[in-house]
This record gives sequence, structure tokens and C-alpha cells, in this order.
Amino acid sequence: MTKKLFWQDAYIKEFDATVTSVAPNQIELDQTAFNPHGGGLVGDTGSLGGVKVLDTVKGNADVILHVVESSGTISVGSQVHGIIDWERRHKIMRMHTSAHLLSAIFNKETGALITGNQIEPERSRIDFSLEGFDRERMLGYCKQANEAIGKNPPVKTYFMKREEALQIPGITKLATAAPPDVQELRIVEIEGLDLQADGGIHVKNLGEIIRIDPMKFENKGKSNRRLYFTIP
Ligand SMILES: [Zn+2]
Repeated sequence: MTKKLFWQDAYIKEFDATVTSVAPNQIELDQTAFNPHGGGLVGDTGSLGGVKVLDTVKGNADVILHVVESSGTISVGSQVHGIIDWERRHKIMRMHTSAHLLSAIFNKETGALITGNQIEPERSRIDFSLEGFDRERMLGYCKQANEAIGKNPPVKTYFMKREEALQIPGITKLATAAPPDVQELRIVEIEGLDLQADGGIHVKNLGEIIRIDPMKFENKGKSNRRLYFTIP
């Protein structure tokens, strides 16, 4: 299992680690600040011991794999310095927290459940299940999100016992995915607005998002709605 430095601090941009396994196109470390692809988020990019990291993915048994062009001379047991492409990564964090905020408002206002999301640095989307559709009201919810961003509440992450967490209404707004079968759930809280079981990376304060710009709404069948949005 790889120690997740991004859970201790999502703002670690550089770190040192020991190589635990090497294949021609992937490197495994004892610990990493690279966040893997998953939960709708794209994986981090950057460099490791001077080698370019193209993607970060989940392997078996809580292992994180760094996908590289070529692992070159990097060998098991050696120390490497990792550098994250921070500009891209910070945008992913801002996009991800934006998606939580929008989901919380949609859920509160309409009861909609989230059926999927795709978080990317340039453009993200949220899919939700909702019978009726009113564009003006949707835009109003985005405006509410921006008003919340303007108030800059903190975003906190912590662990909670599973039984305790599952009693919180709306702790998971995903229509399908049940929280992972673990003793302790990681909670992401936008103070005063949302509590969600989540393993991903987020900003510390909502104000870091600056602004959410809705791009377009799509109707995908009877009750499937999709929102594309971006951030500055
Ligand atoms: Zn999330």
C-alpha cells in the first residue's frame, strides 16, 4: 500500500520517496503526493527523479502507480524526488470542490442525486438525475454557488467512524456508489454547506475557486441532466 501524502496535505507540491517497484512504464513508491485517477478525477502529472509522469492510477490493494514514458535508470530501493505539475493539479482541486458545492446545492434544492462526474482541469461535468428541468432555476443554483464562494468558508477533511458517518443525511449524494466498505470514512466538509464521504483532493477554502462559470446544460433522456462548467 502507498502512503497518501495528499491526504495529509493536498498542497504538497514536491516530496521525496523510496522506489518499491519498477516496470518499464510504471513506478511504485512507499509514499506519494500524486493523486491517482478515480472518482471522476483525472490523475496527476509531473516528474519523478527527472522522469516525466504522464498519469497516476490506482493499482491493486491500495497501491498507487505512476505511469511514466520510461522508468530509465530508476531502480528499486532508490530515493526519488517527485514534483507535481501544480498549476494543473490545483485546478483539478478547485474543479473538484466546485462539483461538490454544485451537487450539494442541486441536491438541497431539487433532491437530485448525482449519477456521475468528470473532473478535468479545463472543463468538468456533473450528471444528475432530475425529472423536471428549468434552465433559469439551474442558473440560479449556479449563482447560489458563486455567492457561497464569495463568503469563502473553509473546506475540511477528516475521518469518521463508518456507522456514525452513515447516519448523516446526504453523506453520499451519489446515486449508485455506496461508500467503500471500510471502518473509517473520509469526510469532506464545506463548512455550513455540505458533508460528503470522499477520498479526493480539495481546496482549503471555497474562495480559491474564484468563480464557477456554467457552460451548458444537456438533457440526456427522461431524467438525466448534465451540466458542463469551467472556472477561471
Ligand atoms: Zn468528490
